[in-house]
Amino acid sequence: MGTFWGPDFAALERDDPEIAAVLLDELARQRQTLQLVASESFASPAVLTALGSTLANKYAEGYPGSRYYGGCAQVDRAEELAVARARELFGAEHANVQPHSGASANLAVYAALAEPGDPVLALGLPHGGHLTHGSRANFSGKWFHPIAYRVDPRTEEIDYDEVRDLALAHRPKLIICGSASYSRLIDFARFREIADEVGAYLMVDAAHVIGLVAGRAVPSPVPHADVVTCTTHKALRGPRGGMILCRADLGRRVDKAVFPFAQGGPMMHSVAAKAVALREAGTAAFREYAQQTVRNARALAAGLAAEGMRPVTGGTDTHLALLDVRELGVCGRDVEARCARARIALNKNAIPYDPEKPAVASGVRVGTPGVTSQGMREDEMRRIAGLIGAAARSDPAAAGGAGRLDEVAEEVSELVRRFPIYAEQEAMA
Ligand SMILES: *Cc1c(COP(=O)(O)O)cnc(C)c1O
Repeated sequence: MGTFWGPDFAALERDDPEIAAVLLDELARQRQTLQLVASESFASPAVLTALGSTLANKYAEGYPGSRYYGGCAQVDRAEELAVARARELFGAEHANVQPHSGASANLAVYAALAEPGDPVLALGLPHGGHLTHGSRANFSGKWFHPIAYRVDPRTEEIDYDEVRDLALAHRPKLIICGSASYSRLIDFARFREIADEVGAYLMVDAAHVIGLVAGRAVPSPVPHADVVTCTTHKALRGPRGGMILCRADLGRRVDKAVFPFAQGGPMMHSVAAKAVALREAGTAAFREYAQQTVRNARALAAGLAAEGMRPVTGGTDTHLALLDVRELGVCGRDVEARCARARIALNKNAIPYDPEKPAVASGVRVGTPGVTSQGMREDEMRRIAGLIGAAARSDPAAAGGAGRLDEVAEEVSELVRRFPIYAEQEAMA
């Protein structure tokens, strides 16, 4: 038995040095920047191993035991493990692990539960909704009839009374909750009540929080929702991809909506990597990571508040915070650019009722899954808040600004060097 299982970096360097250089440069970038993009974290070497395996060669249209191709016995085992682990971890009656992405998972759920033209009630994009929750630029807004609920302008939290009023007025087929920038817990039980009152399906898009749910750091939407969609590559630390959890009686409809309706052959290397990530997510170490991620987000939000950046809703219950940066006299776009020069990766983000265009934005979003995976804790979060504040106040066009950004970048380098990613693998190689 040989030990070759897939990747051979020496062969890549020899045969395609240009792409080999991209791989090395990207690892260097990930190591040398402070990673605060809320939708990113670091997958384990085991996850990357499954992703780089020869399972990538295999066609397996269909589901375990009923494929349109032969030779699927091995990949069937991978998918069965992934499904069983997902059901066990989340207490779900049914799981589909084939969606190529979060957006593909959402497309499949629309296809399973609604008809084109049906009203769909979801959080508006400017308030933290996702493109797939009814944006005109997306299938969801073009093929369905989107109705948007908002957050309360005073508390900046979801206005459940407005959700109910809109549901009663429009009788949506589907109600969606879940966001990429909402830092507070969502009252899933309240959404369930509203959905029941109007006979709508409830879909929770848990793309961002599913890793925290897995680690028991926030309450699970699974007992309340008809369907939960998610990604596997954000705080969950799996491969890029999607997943759908649902009630048993909706399983067949969901499966048929993923394949053959929305997708062709599943990416079996990714399905295997999802199985690996789901196993990891059931460990005590992962629970500690998920809970520390939330503690870190709270510390970071508090630290940024002290730097003059106002946390929207006043704080966070999750892995992310949205900061209103207007008090500093800058826009989100400038803070993003200044931080990037200081080797801090975060992104500009609209705040609720934002007077600026989305490309400018009055806010920035930060998240802690990445830095928590690196082993950073509250002390480092306070330090990072200071670095972000210093970068945000340094205008590179003003006297001394560029120099100050260089100084912050130097401090960032010193910090991330103390928390190296993939260091053990490097030492073994
Ligand atoms: C990230 C995200 C998605 C989409 O995931 P992709 O894998 O990028 O398609 C969907 N919904 C929400 C709320 C998200 O945050």
